Amino acid sequence: MPVVVQKYGGTSVGNAERIRNVARRIIATKNNGNDVVAVVSAMGDTTDDLIKLAYQITDQPNARELDVLLSTGEIVASTLLAMALKNFGYEAISLSGAQAGIHTDANYSHARIVNIDASRIMQEIHNGTIVIVAGFQGITKDSDTTTLGRGGSDTTAVALAASLGAKVCERYTDVEGIFTTDPRLVPEASKLKEVSYEEMLELTTYGSKVMHPRAVELGQIYNVPILVASSFNDHHGTLIHGGPMEIRNKVTAITQDMDVAKITILGVPDKPGVAASIFEPLAKAGVSVDTIVQNASIQNIADLTFTVAKGETEKALIVVRPIAENMGARECAVDTKLAKVSIIGSGMQNTPGYASSMFSTLFAAGINIQLITTSEIRITVIIADDNADEAVKALHKAFELDLI
Ligand code: ASP
Ligand code: MG
Repeated sequence: MPVVVQKYGGTSVGNAERIRNVARRIIATKNNGNDVVAVVSAMGDTTDDLIKLAYQITDQPNARELDVLLSTGEIVASTLLAMALKNFGYEAISLSGAQAGIHTDANYSHARIVNIDASRIMQEIHNGTIVIVAGFQGITKDSDTTTLGRGGSDTTAVALAASLGAKVCERYTDVEGIFTTDPRLVPEASKLKEVSYEEMLELTTYGSKVMHPRAVELGQIYNVPILVASSFNDHHGTLIHGGPMEIRNKVTAITQDMDVAKITILGVPDKPGVAASIFEPLAKAGVSVDTIVQNASIQNIADLTFTVAKGETEKALIVVRPIAENMGARECAVDTKLAKVSIIGSGMQNTPGYASSMFSTLFAAGINIQLITTSEIRITVIIADDNADEAVKALHKAFELDLI
């Protein structure tokens, strides 16, 4: 029988009735002639609650203990779902990440899966048993429990789908699919039938919170199609895949990321090695830097600007200030009231005119652009954060995404 891997998010298993609803959906898939492996997230806000609890005990929870603690949320959900299935008369078994053979490195709280030994899962499905796997966790070679980073159950599901040769990874939450932009901001936003892995990676990197980026990356590497749909109804979802796409609007979606801070080092000498002397220590300190812009120098003095996540601003400044002082820079200026707005679409590749339409739309809305970055399939502007909503609305309209 073909194997289908399904993943159910925290809201979908948020209470007993919802767990029974998920069990019914799994049974329907099984009765359609599939072997089912279902990955679950922790119920509702369990993970947040467990983190809060740890911080009530100490300001610096031990990394190993914290991962064991957080892994319990998914274990609770998996056992209850297995019980619900058995109660409906189906053979089912819950497996922790370790029991499911998910081996990771030892980077607590953001571990990477290094390999999957699927023999136990295979043995169970061979016997006709429905397998429920606790998402978001694995085990190191020293048998310590790890977690994969917030939202990591998506990654568990896609990795399992790849390892089991599943035809699709179905990922069910309270979100119906991938939209042209956030429908809470733009009610006219439309649900997309399909997006490519590349587009989805840009979407997750530039503000869409719908899916864990690592899961999309794994889907692309192992060519596992991922269906994003709701567990609360049977509406069609969005298929993320790598095959040919139907021709449609060349801009696929618009994203907004409010977590942007800008640091500008004013008066940097324009000579070899300066950039390295700033960005190497930042990388060593674990600060991930995004957009980097250096303007043309006047009399061998330039300004160097880069962006970081808001929460990293202080950490970045501690590294950068002394270096800037040493090289005789004038000052470090900081702006934390920024946002990134991006238009994304594979169709824009090799098609001129998208940047100019984007800029003139923003100009017409009276929005000032501070920085611009692009990839083959994305154009991003950095603007004042209080302009972000208006920018998204104007661009959604200008690129006719409400007509899809
Ligand atoms: N429960 C974990 C979290 O909330 C993992 C997940 O939901 O995928 O981050
Ligand atoms: Mg969760």
